[in-house]
Amino acid sequence: MTGSDVGSEAERKMQFLFALRKRGVTNARVLNAMEKIDRGVFLRGLFAGRAYEDMPLPIACGQTISQPSVVGLMTQALDVPPRAKVLEVGTGSGYQAAILSRLARRVYTIDRHKRLVVEARRIFEDLDLNNITAITADGSRGLPDQAPFDRIIVTAAAEDPPGPLLAQLAIGGIMVLPVGQSDHVQSLIKVTRGEDGFEYEELLPVRFVPLIEGLGQE
Ligand code: SAH
Repeated sequence: MTGSDVGSEAERKMQFLFALRKRGVTNARVLNAMEKIDRGVFLRGLFAGRAYEDMPLPIACGQTISQPSVVGLMTQALDVPPRAKVLEVGTGSGYQAAILSRLARRVYTIDRHKRLVVEARRIFEDLDLNNITAITADGSRGLPDQAPFDRIIVTAAAEDPPGPLLAQLAIGGIMVLPVGQSDHVQSLIKVTRGEDGFEYEELLPVRFVPLIEGLGQE
């Protein structure tokens, strides 16, 4: 790599962080985690070169890696304490899980596509992210064996928050997820579980792939 390559790489990363701040990602812990985890590692071929653009990009199995600013805003809304046990539904590329792994004690991530889980696991190993467990399963049922979770993040859109996920959220816990019709406008919502029930807050309009029940074909 030449000196100018190093310069442009650093500059791209600075622009990436600047774009995140401009979109409202201001939490220092979140920005720090996003600075440390290189999004390019989670992309293949041509798309790896576009890793620092604030855009969703295609990954295997017809899925997408989310837009970085949306990853940042969701992670920020999740408000992850260092001791938290976190569940992510929708591993996809593994990018969101990798960011969570720097903020939480333990991360469980589930995808219905085995191929995505296998690829993500390999990246977690390469990056020495040893506190992530990636599992092939239908995440709309959650992960009853490991419940309750302090934080739950869903990165695929359901019409309503799935009941099993609400049930597996600890008292005092937070869940962030997109809800709405799959190809219409969806809202990102934050669900907080108190002693007496759930509180719902609408955060911003988003667009995610749908949450689909059952396992994928590959
Ligand atoms: N968080 C990912 C992006 C996820 S894209 C990243 O950082 O790259 C949404 C993912 O949700 C897809 O990989 C899709 O396979 C998965 N998904 C959809 N329905 C699911 C379900 N019921 N259980 C588990 N994963 C599901």
